Amino acid sequence: MLMDYHVHLERAGLSRGNAMRFVSQAQARGLSEIAFTEHAYNFVECAPMLARPGYVSMHGHGFRIDEYVALIEGLKDEGFRAKLGIEFDYIPETIGHAAEFLSRYPFDLVIGSVHWIGEWGFDIDASSWNDVDVEWAYSRYFELVCAAAGSGIFDCIGHPDVIKVFGARIADGPDRSRGSRDGRRELAGYYSALVSAASESGTCLEVSSAGLRRPAREAYPAMDLLKLACERGVPITLASDAHEPEEVGSRYDELVTWARAAGYRTVTVFGGRQPLQTEIG
Ligand SMILES: [Zn+2]
Repeated sequence: MLMDYHVHLERAGLSRGNAMRFVSQAQARGLSEIAFTEHAYNFVECAPMLARPGYVSMHGHGFRIDEYVALIEGLKDEGFRAKLGIEFDYIPETIGHAAEFLSRYPFDLVIGSVHWIGEWGFDIDASSWNDVDVEWAYSRYFELVCAAAGSGIFDCIGHPDVIKVFGARIADGPDRSRGSRDGRRELAGYYSALVSAASESGTCLEVSSAGLRRPAREAYPAMDLLKLACERGVPITLASDAHEPEEVGSRYDELVTWARAAGYRTVTVFGGRQPLQTEIG
């Protein structure tokens, strides 16, 4: 079984017709299920929990959570293999409120993602990296994503090593992307900490083809991280992070090869936030 557990309606708009374009694409690509996982910043009710400069005002689409829930639950009632999800930012100061909010709706799965290091939205604009110390960015990112994975509030961690999104690496040696000779060892430590946090809280990691479409030119997460996660029994989901219907199931042949190469034979299916393992393919 294959599913796409991370798609966004924000650009298409919140309507049955637009949601069906995503569902149809999933069917055309032979996927058994699709999970709509809209960004929290698109819901007016979430704005107070996402206090980052310009985040909601510049990126949000002003959706109402009740309308979104009704739309996706309606598709399920019609018999479509759709899931109700949300992608929620891990923001340490407001995580308690987020958990309370998430418990009020009948989500099938909740993705937790780190897009912000303090007030820096690091995956928005490549030029924001110009004066950044890459090793500092990795260190802060993994601190946050480990806390997100360890919180137990999320079912799954989205794009687990998205800090590589614009191609900055710490393990490439001193001459490339400002990485250091010790970068590989540091990275191994970060991977191990993330896998331990996910394993202890029972949180999945998402395997996403989005990185293949970004300057990182690699699926999330990196093979070394994914192998470690497999060794320690951390389950995975499969995801495209589609923002357009055509991106649903994008490059899944490569994604499945990636997951299998790391040792995975099963992926996770969610219903009512309960995980179940099913064979890949
Ligand atoms: Zn994301």
